[in-house]
Amino acid sequence: MATRKRSSAKRAPLAEYKAKRDFSKTDEPAGGAVRARKGPRLRFVIQKHAASHLHFDFRLELDGVMKSWAVPKGPSYDPSVKRLAMEVEDHPIEYNTFEGTIPKGEYGGGTVMLWDRGTYEPEEGGGVDALREAYEKGDLKIRMHGERMQGGWVLVRMRRPGARAQWLLIKHRDEFATSKFDIVAEVMTSVKSGRTMEEIAERKGRVWRSNRATDAETKTVRKPAAKKSKAKRSAVSSRSTQRKRRTQSR
Ligand code: MN
Repeated sequence: MATRKRSSAKRAPLAEYKAKRDFSKTDEPAGGAVRARKGPRLRFVIQKHAASHLHFDFRLELDGVMKSWAVPKGPSYDPSVKRLAMEVEDHPIEYNTFEGTIPKGEYGGGTVMLWDRGTYEPEEGGGVDALREAYEKGDLKIRMHGERMQGGWVLVRMRRPGARAQWLLIKHRDEFATSKFDIVAEVMTSVKSGRTMEEIAERKGRVWRSNRATDAETKTVRKPAAKKSKAKRSAVSSRSTQRKRRTQSR
């Protein structure tokens, strides 16, 4: 499997993704035509995936597919922490809305939570061309605009010949960076449905999907997450912390 990975780029887009899955058994999207968009901003998603091992799937839109990495420990807002990110097969854009369960015994069997979503751009500008070049170089500096992921991040490829490409995911030192906040431990709910992994596994909320109750639930879950990220920022300046506290007590 690992040795095939390198040649997959030359095959049809998503060939590896499709070859690994039986779409008569899994609810994952089969992936339609690959259509590259020029922006203005490209999309990203992070999916928390409890398969044989828990990991976070970090996906960046590029040239009509989602470039994908499995990050065992998930992202960290601490710039001194380097998180291993193993590159995996490109996923279809339709995967961005996928949350649910993959049957046991199927590839990736387990529970998938949509943990974050948003847009991203190259940190230094230059659009898709700059991103493509940076990806190929193995030094991808990006700015993320998500609900949980904000500010500058970098993916750096390590040299490990013969194996599946391994990268490191590292937070940039910016106004969002902090060592006092463990985003993965703090944020345990879906950005899409507000559900926990257990609730997704039990297929809770499915019958409520077209119901208002889901919206209310989503809102109440999102709010603390937004506060947290503001709290992170305020850690930088005590003045803004005071301001924040006043705002929050209102
Ligand atoms: Mn996965």
